[in-house]
Amino acid sequence: MAIDLYSSCPCGSGKKFKWCCQPIHVQIDKAFQQDQEGQHDAALRMMDDVVKEHPGNPEAWGRKALLLYNNERVDEAESALQKAFEINPNYPFGHLLRGLFRQHEGEIQGALLLFRRAAELYDPEAKDVLAQVYSLIGDSELKLNRPVAAHAALQVCQRLRPSDELGQDLEALFGPSSRLPAAARRHYTFQSPPREATPDKRNGWSQALAGAATGKLTDAARVFEQLTKDDARDAAACYNLGLARAWLGDNPSALAALDQYLSLENDEQRAAEAWALAEVLRFGQGMEDQADYVDHSATFQVREPQRVFSFLEDWQRERRLTGVQVREQEGMITGIVLDRTGLLTTAGASAQPARMGAYLLVLGNQILLLRGTNQEAVNRAFQEIQERLGPALSEARLARGPANFGDTLAEALVFPVGATDQAIAQQQIREHVQRYFEETWLHRPLRSLGNVAPIDAAGHPVLRKKLLGVVQFLEECAAGGTEPYDFNRLRHKLGLQQGAPAAAPAEQPSAAALDIDALNTADLGGLKTETLSEAQLEQAWRAAQRLDAQELASHFARQMVARPPSAERPDRFSWYTFLVQRALAEGNKDAALEYINAGEQADSEQNEGRRRNDYELRRGEVLAKRGEAEAAHEVFDRLVGSAPAELRYAGKAAESMLGIKQGAAALKFAERGLAKSREKNDRDSEQYFMELVAAAKKQVG
Ligand SMILES: [Zn+2]
Repeated sequence: MAIDLYSSCPCGSGKKFKWCCQPIHVQIDKAFQQDQEGQHDAALRMMDDVVKEHPGNPEAWGRKALLLYNNERVDEAESALQKAFEINPNYPFGHLLRGLFRQHEGEIQGALLLFRRAAELYDPEAKDVLAQVYSLIGDSELKLNRPVAAHAALQVCQRLRPSDELGQDLEALFGPSSRLPAAARRHYTFQSPPREATPDKRNGWSQALAGAATGKLTDAARVFEQLTKDDARDAAACYNLGLARAWLGDNPSALAALDQYLSLENDEQRAAEAWALAEVLRFGQGMEDQADYVDHSATFQVREPQRVFSFLEDWQRERRLTGVQVREQEGMITGIVLDRTGLLTTAGASAQPARMGAYLLVLGNQILLLRGTNQEAVNRAFQEIQERLGPALSEARLARGPANFGDTLAEALVFPVGATDQAIAQQQIREHVQRYFEETWLHRPLRSLGNVAPIDAAGHPVLRKKLLGVVQFLEECAAGGTEPYDFNRLRHKLGLQQGAPAAAPAEQPSAAALDIDALNTADLGGLKTETLSEAQLEQAWRAAQRLDAQELASHFARQMVARPPSAERPDRFSWYTFLVQRALAEGNKDAALEYINAGEQADSEQNEGRRRNDYELRRGEVLAKRGEAEAAHEVFDRLVGSAPAELRYAGKAAESMLGIKQGAAALKFAERGLAKSREKNDRDSEQYFMELVAAAKKQVG
């Protein structure tokens, strides 16, 4: 424990070590020497003497506490440390030592707070011990999934006491071959003061920057906090406040400052970068309520390892477990549980790709852990394991915590377990990623967008900037992975691409070469429908629906039904029924009825009337909605009479009649359905019709 003679004394007196505690350290060093040589009692006796001679020196008590702790006399160590704090509550070594005690107990958060306090209290010249403190801070921040704060702390450590070893660690953690997304390892810097800043402001600004360079981040945060209070429109100060807090590992308030910054920053690129940083902060421990990705886990104790292993083998054979890796030296098995809901049970479905369920980990024959970001999928896997293994495992302990950055892509993953052809497997993977982002993700409200879905955020001035950051972050997370997806497709879909023409080019060169699925709303609106094939028109109709562009979808549907009959697509029910639905949604019941008439006529002329009953069902429903009870009743009567085995007709008829308070008619249809479902021994339908009967009886009174 060599302490530089001319550095500030670790007791916190503010004097140089040589002129302060160095004399008592001669005896202290001797005690620690004895302890190392195995003479523990003699060492402790010597420390008692030191304390007796210098009862008012916190350093004497602090070193005694350390020696006691090294001898596993934890309670006595704590009380000796307490004595030191009674003399000087700002005793820096005391905070460091107490932090080490907490760390040893596995209390990372508590330890980190004490290390941060020690870093603030130590004299900036006490470089060796400060380097040690910053290294501890960096390690703790990494454990709490806060790479930006860890990066900042380890860089301070490297500046204080440069070492090749730390340099290599920094390179591995944050260098180009790092597994972290770019936003989590980028070299962030403070922004300069605004051009119109007063000299006073510039002065405060540069003081903050200078302080931050030596690791005094709390001072820098305080300065920028004041600057944002003085001028709430100061974008650069908001950004710097957010960054200083992120470096301090204070993710919630860093996020608040970045949120304010986003509303002020007009440069889209800078704004996007800041919001990608905000995405990283949401992955920190304690940010679960603000994160769009949260890890859910179930941990079991393994009671009968043999049964567990043979079960895992069965699961592998059943293609429920894939990518299994056994690391014998570490006593570790890892794999991916595939989600059963993605696997169809019917014959021939084995070629269907399966979805990610949960990650599985078995440690040293003792612990089995399931984890993943899809809570339902993890629960399904957990319940199945519990059912199949019973007493071979303990009860599970369920927990929730920060997700890994790689988990952002988990839902985009698909496992073509049944595909034997490599090319088909690749295609399934590609198509699934595409569908996930462009059909599912696009419509999902995100916490990072204030619970607004990406498709809706694109049109909002501030949310648009955030959305750019969210997409950038996703792209960075995907960069290291194997999922081939061009995020410019997504940007284009969302209308986020700068400079790109909003509408499709006027001369639509070759309709055959069009990638309709990649078009956004504006592109779709610009399509010349007369040049499209039927298949393309159908594709455009579906694409518009996925983008929630109902007007546009109606336009395509109207175009389609206006086309002359085609042998390729004789059945136009889905188009007509879509138009009926839209007309009803717009309150135009006459138009709805006209579409039914037109559709039914086309069906009898071109499709041999195969859809006749479907149209009749719609007709009954629309008539009921128009309040024409008698006419509706008549249509339903005819329909149920002509196809008595179709339980859904009776059900829909009863529901429709209930909806317009025609209890007696509803009861008639419900009872017919009930009798039929009993005849067919269909329990679910029976239950359903019993409920309908009860509701109808209530209406009759
Ligand atoms: Zn001292």
